Amino acid sequence: MIKKLSNNVDMPQVGLGVYKMTDETEAIKAITTALDVGYRAIDTATLYQNEKEVGEAIKAHKLPREDIFITTKVWNTDQGYDNTLRAFEKSLELLQVDYIDSYLTHWPVPEKYTETYRAIERLYEEKLIRVPGVSNHHQEHLLELEKTANIKPVINQIECHPLLQQSELIKFCHERDIAVTGWGPLGRGRILPNEELDHIAKKYNKTAAQVILRWHLERGTIIIPKSIKPSRIKENFDLFDFSLDQEDMETIASYDSNGRTGANSSEPGFMRHFEGM
Ligand code: NDP
Repeated sequence: MIKKLSNNVDMPQVGLGVYKMTDETEAIKAITTALDVGYRAIDTATLYQNEKEVGEAIKAHKLPREDIFITTKVWNTDQGYDNTLRAFEKSLELLQVDYIDSYLTHWPVPEKYTETYRAIERLYEEKLIRVPGVSNHHQEHLLELEKTANIKPVINQIECHPLLQQSELIKFCHERDIAVTGWGPLGRGRILPNEELDHIAKKYNKTAAQVILRWHLERGTIIIPKSIKPSRIKENFDLFDFSLDQEDMETIASYDSNGRTGANSSEPGFMRHFEGM
C-alpha cells in the first residue's frame, strides 16, 4: 500500500524498523528477508548504528534504487545547521547511496531543532533528499517550525500504538497535510499477548499483531514494525487482504491509556532521557 505524501512522493505505508538490530549478520538477514517478502521501505537512524548494514543489504539485493524508500534521522548530538549537514554526509556514505528518501530530525532538541530543520530544507532544495521531515515533534514544535521554515515538514514520525493513540496530534498533523509515521506500532512488546486481540484476530484468520498493524492502516498512518524473525517480518507485511470492522476499531480505541514508552518531548528536561546516548 502506497501513501501519497503532500509533496507528491509515494511512500510505502508499511516499512521495516531496524532499531536495536546491532548484530551485523542479524540486521542484514532481517532486511534481506523483508525485501524478499515485498517490503520496500526501511527505517533507520544514525543512533541505531546500522546504516552500513542497511546499505549493504539493499545493495546486495539488486533492486533498482528508486524502488526502495530509505528513512534515516539526524541524532541529537549532531543537531544544528552545520552539524546536520555533516551528519547527513556520513549517513549517505554509510548507506552507500547518493540520495536519501526521507531525512528526519530525530528529536526536537531545544534551541537546535529549528536550525536542524533549516539544514534539512537545504538538503531538500539540493535534491539530496526527497522528503523533509521530523520526528517526535509535538504541536508546539510544529508551530515553531511554521514560523521559521520555508518548506513545511512532510512527515512527522511519532510514538503511536493502541496504548498511546495520539489522536489529537495526528489530527493536528493531518490538518496540515503532514503524514504521520507511527513508531513502536506494536507497543514495543507491551501489548502482546492479549486474549481479546487474539479473539478478534481469529475472526479474520489473522494474528493479534496483524490486527494491531491493520488498526494503524485504517487510521491512515504509516508504520514501521521491527522484527528480526523471518516469520514475523512476513506476518507484519501480510495486512492488505482484510479490514477491521467498526466494533473492533472501537475495542482497540478503548486501549488508549497514555502508555508512552519513550521520552515526552513536551516535558521540560526531556533531554535527560538521552544522557549517555
Ligand atoms: P515495535 O512496536 O515495532 O515492536 C518491536 C517488538 O515487537 C520486538 O520485540 C519484536 O520482537 C516484537 N514483534 C515484532 N513483530 C511481532 C509479531 N508479529 N508478533 C509478536 N511480536 C512481534 O517497536 P520498535 O521500538 O522497534 O519500533 C519500530 C521502529 O520504529 C523501530 O525499529 C525504529 O525504526 C522506529 N523507532 C523510531 C523512534 C523515533 O524516535 N523516531 C523510536 C523508536 C523506534 P522480535 O524482533 O524478536 O520479533
